Amino acid sequence: MAKMKGFAMLRIGEVGWIEKEAPECGPLDAICKPLAIAICTSDVHTVWEGAVGPRENMILGHEGCAEVVAVGSEVKDFKPGDRVLVPAITPDWNSLEAQAGYSMHSSGMLAGWKFSNFKDGLDSELFHVNDADGNLAHMPEGMTLEEACMLSDMVPTGFHGVELADVQFGDTVLVIGIGPVGLMAVRGCALRGASRIIAVGTRKACVDVAKQYGATDFISYKNGSIEDQVLAMTDGKGVDRVVIAGGTVETFESAVKSLKAGGKIGNVNYLGSGDYITIPRVEWGVGMGHKNICGGLMPGGRLRMEKLGSLITNGQVDVKPLCTHVFHGWKHIPEALQLMKDKPADLIKPVVILDDEIKF
Ligand code: NAD
Ligand code: ZN
Repeated sequence: MAKMKGFAMLRIGEVGWIEKEAPECGPLDAICKPLAIAICTSDVHTVWEGAVGPRENMILGHEGCAEVVAVGSEVKDFKPGDRVLVPAITPDWNSLEAQAGYSMHSSGMLAGWKFSNFKDGLDSELFHVNDADGNLAHMPEGMTLEEACMLSDMVPTGFHGVELADVQFGDTVLVIGIGPVGLMAVRGCALRGASRIIAVGTRKACVDVAKQYGATDFISYKNGSIEDQVLAMTDGKGVDRVVIAGGTVETFESAVKSLKAGGKIGNVNYLGSGDYITIPRVEWGVGMGHKNICGGLMPGGRLRMEKLGSLITNGQVDVKPLCTHVFHGWKHIPEALQLMKDKPADLIKPVVILDDEIKF
C-alpha cells in the first residue's frame, strides 16, 4: 500500500506531521493532490476544542483546491490532471436526505461534512473525494489558487447565511460577526439588494473589507447590547433580517430582540458551548411573532461551486481581500494554523500555496 505524508490532529490539543496509507479510489471517487489550502476557524475548534469529538492521527483541512490524480471507473466528467474546486461539504448525492433537499445532512445530521471529520482532510499529499462528478467542479480559467480556496467554505457559508435569512430587495440586515464568513454574508446581502447592512464588529481589517463589500453601519458588541444599539439606529423598529456569523448561544436573544415581527434569522455560526439557546418570550411575540430562526451547514456540491465560482470570475465577488496571509510551501501549514488560533488583528484568512514537496 502506498504511503503519504500529511499534517494531522494527533489527538485533541496536539498536531503534527504523520505518514499513513494513501486513500483508495472507488468507482465513483477521485483521488486528488492539493494545490493550495486555507485554514479555517473550524480547524481551531476541531483541534483545540474537540468540536467533532476525539480524533487520533486525522489529517486536517477542508478548504482548498486541487489537481485530480486518479478517478474511478464510473466518473464521467473529471480526469487526471484536471484542476478542481473542492467544497468543504461533499454529500452522498444518492442519499434520501439529498433527495429531500438537505444534501449536507446526507447519511446523518451534519454528515455531509466528511473532510477532517469522518475521514482524512486536504492537508496531505493525496486526499479522497466521494461522488466526484457531484462534488468537484472544474477550476475556472484565470482563477487564482487563493480565490479557489475561498470557494470551499467562506463564500458558500456566508452566502448560505443570507439564504437562510431570506434577504430581499430593500431589507435592513444585521450581520453579527464579521470574520471571513460574516464578511461574505455582507457581500451576499449587498448582492441580494439589502438597502442597509449593519455589521457587528470593530477589528479594522474586517471593518475596511466590510465597507468595501457594502456594509453601511457598524456597531460593537463590546459597547452594550446589540439590540439596544440596533433599535437606537432604526427608530425603535428593528431590522428585517439577521445573519449570525459569530457569537454564542446568547447571540440569539439579541437577534430576536433586534428583529421586526415577520423577520428571519439565518445562523451559520458554530455553537461550541452551552446546552440551550434562549429565545426571549415577549420579543418572540409570545410565541406568535412570525420571527423565523433557521441554522444550517453550508450546501456543497458541484452546481453550487460552479455558480459561486462564476460570481468571482465575472467580478461580482472579490475574495482577494480575505486572503490576508499567503504562504508558499508545506512547512508553513503549522504556522498558518497557529496564526488562526492566535488571531492577530490584521488576520482574516491564511492560505498556503503548496508549490513544493513535503519534507520532514
Ligand atoms: P471568525 O472567528 O473569524 O469570526 C467570528 C467573528 O465573530 C469574530 O470576528 C469575532 O470577533 C466575532 N464575535 C465573537 N463574539 C461575538 C459576539 N458575541 N457578538 C458578535 N460578534 C462576535 O470565524 P469565521 O471563520 O468567520 O466563521 C464564523 C463561524 O462560522 C464559526 O463559528 C465557524 O465555525 C462557523 N462556520 C460554519 C460553517 C457552516 O457551514 N455553517 C462553515 C464554516 C464556518
Ligand atoms: Zn472551513
